[in-house]
Amino acid sequence: MAHYSGLIDKYRDRLPVAPGTRAVSLNEGATPLIELVNLPVLVRKKVRLYAKFEGLNPTGSFKDRGMTMAVTRAVEEGARAIICASTGNTSAAAAAYAARAGIACFVLIPEGKIALGKLSQAMMHGSVVIQIRGNFDDGMRLVQEVARTTPVNIVNSINPYRIQGQKTVAFEVIEALGDVPDYHALPVGNAGNITAHWIGYSESVGEKTEALKADAGMRQYKRKKIAKRRPIMLGYQASGAAPIVRGRPVENPETVATAIRIGNPVSWQQAVAASHESGGWFAECTDEEILHVQKLLAQTEGIFCEPASAIALAGVLKDLELGKIGEGSIIVCTLTGHGLKDPDVAIAQSAQPVTVDAELPAIERVIRRHLPKT
Ligand SMILES: *Cc1c(COP(=O)(O)O)cnc(C)c1O
Repeated sequence: MAHYSGLIDKYRDRLPVAPGTRAVSLNEGATPLIELVNLPVLVRKKVRLYAKFEGLNPTGSFKDRGMTMAVTRAVEEGARAIICASTGNTSAAAAAYAARAGIACFVLIPEGKIALGKLSQAMMHGSVVIQIRGNFDDGMRLVQEVARTTPVNIVNSINPYRIQGQKTVAFEVIEALGDVPDYHALPVGNAGNITAHWIGYSESVGEKTEALKADAGMRQYKRKKIAKRRPIMLGYQASGAAPIVRGRPVENPETVATAIRIGNPVSWQQAVAASHESGGWFAECTDEEILHVQKLLAQTEGIFCEPASAIALAGVLKDLELGKIGEGSIIVCTLTGHGLKDPDVAIAQSAQPVTVDAELPAIERVIRRHLPKT
């Protein structure tokens, strides 16, 4: 088998890139689809539950899938700089891919509301980090305004190439399962990812999608029929930032899941259309439910995802309990980002280290106290 060199090379025939276009890639994609074996037993449900662990992408989130496409096309068009507004992961990915491409990167982030890991990535990769006294939605508006007056290329999800790159997650799920799941659950912030998943699944059954019709860059693009049906799409939002669930924008979104702390999603209409077409629904989870499931997943399955990602599983567990998802179902949850992105939240809710003298008896006492009962 040839060396894996990223999703553009792998899915070139299904993406808006020319055969000769050189991909700006960090070998993103090809993330594992991990079967959750302990959780279904714990909640006493006969289901096949999988995690598509997108936290294992090069910068630790699914944003890399979109960024490889956006930066590849930006470089091809001769861009010298890219810009984005971000709750964190977009800026981390933009900074890394800009570094790889040798172009400048500007990121607008909400002051004080970005997880430490993400901020460190944007800084380390050498982007210019602009903190604004405002939220993500303010940043998004400013990015669009400044792109009209300065030579910067927007790489937020209003950039159609982002969604195109992100749709490849659906191809990988189908390849790994050998079929589509019955349900596919994911967190919804700006709603670009749920839109992208749906485009990927739709193209997999041979459908022509809107982006395909609209984008002239799609000339070489082929659809490949690799599935017979599409899954039911489940989108989950945090209670303090649930504009789609409520049906109206949220002025001051608040949630511990900072990656989905968004009050007015860019891809709102497309997400609602996707959900509706799939026969799915949107629902909400509280911060408490999110953190509980983040920890449960880490401690029962050994998978550490960030709070925003845990909402996909929190929502699924809740809807299983409510009977909205039936037993016997095959369910995939996209775990959008890695838990290391947000160490503060993880440390705050975990058992703190015990401090003892550097002596054998002290260590023995701790071990005896914590050994599982036989
Ligand atoms: C960006 C992001 C989301 C939200 O995705 P949208 O496309 O904005 O709906 C969820 N989780 C993580 C970890 C993210 O980085």
